[in-house]
Amino acid sequence: MSRMFPIPFNRPCFIGNEQAYIVQSIANGHISGDGPFTRKCEAFLAEALRAKKVLLTTSCTHALEIAAILLQLKPGDEVVVPSFTFVSTANAFALQGARPVFADIRPDTLNIDERAIESLISPRTRAIVPVHYAGVGCEMDTILEIARRNGLVVIEDNAHGLFGRYKERFLGTFGNLATQSFHETKNFSCGEGGALIINDLEFLERAEIIREKGTDRSRFFRGQVDKYTWVDFGSSYVISDILAAYLFAQLEAYQLIQARRQRIWNYYYEGLREWAQNQGVRLPFVPPSCDQSYHMFYLIFPSEIDREHMIDHLKSHGILSVFHYQPLHLSPMGSRFGGRSGDCPVTEQVSRTLLRLPFYNDLSETVQEYVVEIVRQFNTRS
Ligand SMILES: *Cc1c(COP(=O)(O)O)cnc(C)c1O
Repeated sequence: MSRMFPIPFNRPCFIGNEQAYIVQSIANGHISGDGPFTRKCEAFLAEALRAKKVLLTTSCTHALEIAAILLQLKPGDEVVVPSFTFVSTANAFALQGARPVFADIRPDTLNIDERAIESLISPRTRAIVPVHYAGVGCEMDTILEIARRNGLVVIEDNAHGLFGRYKERFLGTFGNLATQSFHETKNFSCGEGGALIINDLEFLERAEIIREKGTDRSRFFRGQVDKYTWVDFGSSYVISDILAAYLFAQLEAYQLIQARRQRIWNYYYEGLREWAQNQGVRLPFVPPSCDQSYHMFYLIFPSEIDREHMIDHLKSHGILSVFHYQPLHLSPMGSRFGGRSGDCPVTEQVSRTLLRLPFYNDLSETVQEYVVEIVRQFNTRS
């Protein structure tokens, strides 16, 4: 038993062909970007999601940056984002001179509260960036309708939600653009990586240019121009084919990975449901309109003190748990953009009381049984 401690919150997992494909990418003699494995990943994702076009990038943050450059933002332009999200959802747009306007989240799914969006829209608003928290879809019908009525671009931050669905359609295929993350902590990983999904093909040509340092290199490779040159803004957003090789091994095994994660999620849910009910602890909620991506399992405690005690309780039994996100509207950077944002009481409450349990692809049933047993020993006080 002692070899299993400490039980980490996350662990990078190998599914099978990662090493073989890396060796193959080296043998291919093409380890820079846009080699055979990058193409395989892009084609695989486009087909699996039924998306029009997928471009692999160095990270989800960088895919969001490409999206922000595509918007041709002017100083004072605004982008509506949830306050309860990772920094990059807002920072990518702030970097282009826009002001992030923070919306609160729904208490049930912890997704951007679509009812809060409209009151945050001004003549300067350019885009809405819904984040599918924990891979459970936002209310996309309403969000797309608000965007249509106000002439806004929708960019889905789908870092958590690859292969999740809303009303049968894959997350990442609703917005004009969407972004994916292949960071070590996500369902599918190559250490650091990401993708930009382009559903509105009007953005495709410039997206390729921005991703290639502002040059028309992609057109050159397709033989559409006879030399390539600097034509627009851009940066270095192309991922090494070695990383794409690693990623392709994981994508190829996506059904196996998702089946494992589903088992882990269901085991937590079944094992903790009764305890949670008795203790006033909330478990994740998945509306009937959504098929989730099984990205994480969280608990929401009645108070911050209960959460702190649970973290200590788990730690004293060798189990590492984590919480997130610090509300962006209260962060030092986020508060610089204050004024236009709404109140975000749900974000503030959830940020104080949410805890994530260990969750990774090869979390064994033995270890999970132990985690569930230790969680169930805990009594909330408030
Ligand atoms: C992980 C994450 C990102 C950033 O992903 P990187 O690939 O590390 O840049 C962005 N948004 C959300 C919601 C995330 O969880």
